[in-house]
Amino acid sequence: SYTFGPKIINWDISRKKWLQKNPRFLNQANGRPRILLLTGSQSGPCNNPIGDHYLLKAIKNKVDYCRMHDIEIVYNMANLEDELSGHWTKLTLIRKIMLSHPEVEWIWWMDSDTFFTDMFFKLPISKYEGYNMVVHGYHNLLFDEHSWTALSTGSFLLRNCQWSLDLLDSWAPMGAKGRGREEAGKILTQNLKGRPEFEADDQSALIYLLISRKDELVDKVFLENSYYLHGFWVGLVDRYEEFMEKYKSGSGDERWPFVTHFVGCKSCGGYGDYKLKRCVKSMERAFNFADNQVLKLYGFSHRGLLSPNIKMIRNETSRLLGVRDHVEMET
Ligand code: UDP
Ligand code: MN
Repeated sequence: SYTFGPKIINWDISRKKWLQKNPRFLNQANGRPRILLLTGSQSGPCNNPIGDHYLLKAIKNKVDYCRMHDIEIVYNMANLEDELSGHWTKLTLIRKIMLSHPEVEWIWWMDSDTFFTDMFFKLPISKYEGYNMVVHGYHNLLFDEHSWTALSTGSFLLRNCQWSLDLLDSWAPMGAKGRGREEAGKILTQNLKGRPEFEADDQSALIYLLISRKDELVDKVFLENSYYLHGFWVGLVDRYEEFMEKYKSGSGDERWPFVTHFVGCKSCGGYGDYKLKRCVKSMERAFNFADNQVLKLYGFSHRGLLSPNIKMIRNETSRLLGVRDHVEMET
């Protein structure tokens, strides 16, 4: 069965020693544990050229969020591993980044088809002390219903520790290209409610792992649903005007969703569950909704959620207020 290569043991001790030897790399910044956001996309151009435009908008959106919140960001386009290809690449990447950046406490994976839509929501990271994984999901859907959408692996956090390396070791084999992935897909469809027949995917594999080894793993997994660490785009994208009218940014929840994830939209190419035109229009709305929150810091706004045109909303005054002051005020 598939392995990442030599098994890593005693990572917690090695990492601790490394941190002691390299005191200039603090595993925290401004009193908060150091977070690195990891994302990426395929190495080649999209089959649909418009897909590349939205990959660019999605990374611009993530760069903006990370700048505003002191989070480091890594974008990968290399195919590091032939056997763990496609959307399984994220597991190889997370492991590589974990081992190469002992100073980072949390690795935050985000799919390329996600947008931050609440730029002022701050991750409540101190809440996750004592946990090693944070994923958007629901306890009953997972452990009672065994639903294949009980959680989402489009946006989740893993602590840099031995537990996470062990989890990745158990998670990866179901993604081994070819027969392994096909066979695992059958097992997942048999066991998970609502899952169509197709090769094993990383989300179903994680759900299956958590269900079958519940007693061992559940204590370290935080199933977050008090805000949208991941939010399914259908049902959110048509309501942005309503949110703006009734609420303000910063809550990250149903009043102003933190993340909008375009699951099932294959805007770069391939067969999606939704029409490309609808996906693209919805992504444009998500991007502009978020971008308005960024532009506001500089005194501008889009004319509408589908418009690239910009208007000025504030004249510069003599009052010196930096962008960071604005971010602090809003969060
Ligand atoms: N991905 C990647 N390299 C690839 C293919 C996919 O890094 O060659 C990443 C990309 O970030 C993508 C994620 O894997 O968003 C998961 O795939 P996708 O979003 O298409 O799956 P879905 O969320 O629709 O299930
Ligand atoms: Mn996705």
